[in-house]
Amino acid sequence: MGAVLVDPDGQIVLAGRNRRADEAGLLGQISGAAIAHAEINLLAQLGHGDYRDWTLRSSLQPCLLCLSAVRVGGVGHVSYAGADPLWDGCAQVPALLPELLSSRWPTTTGPAEGMDGVWGALLPAIWYVVHKPESVAEPTDLLPWATVQLARGCVTTGILDAPSGTDAYSLASALHHRG
Ligand SMILES: [Zn+2]
Repeated sequence: MGAVLVDPDGQIVLAGRNRRADEAGLLGQISGAAIAHAEINLLAQLGHGDYRDWTLRSSLQPCLLCLSAVRVGGVGHVSYAGADPLWDGCAQVPALLPELLSSRWPTTTGPAEGMDGVWGALLPAIWYVVHKPESVAEPTDLLPWATVQLARGCVTTGILDAPSGTDAYSLASALHHRG
């Protein structure tokens, strides 16, 4: 999973990716920890400033931790590709703390239509199928079962294997061209 920060002119200024499975203690990154989400690694690079007109674009619907970090970081908008229904309830958080959050909780748009949305939702399922297959061997509340089955099909057929001699398509580039 990945995230980029886009300035008011539409330029990508920062990028981050999920580093939960990486070695711990990478310089300048949050890695090898449960909180090493893509959005957190992006926001950890962001200095103090006024980012109300900036947009954090994420490959997946942000969790409560990340939306809270966006709020603290002062970024005004979030746009995501793939749906993660576990976090739909985050839209109700400002009502719990209205004096603190009602006017500064990031506006959120997503999921993206078409392949961007499908691909964004599929990425975490592929990760689980490859790295923790036992966790998605049976239906759980973690991911929609149809998404897990699609991910399993992608992995077992080898459709995700890049042809030799080609470069992987950049996630940052994909997010940037979402418009
Ligand atoms: Zn998160």
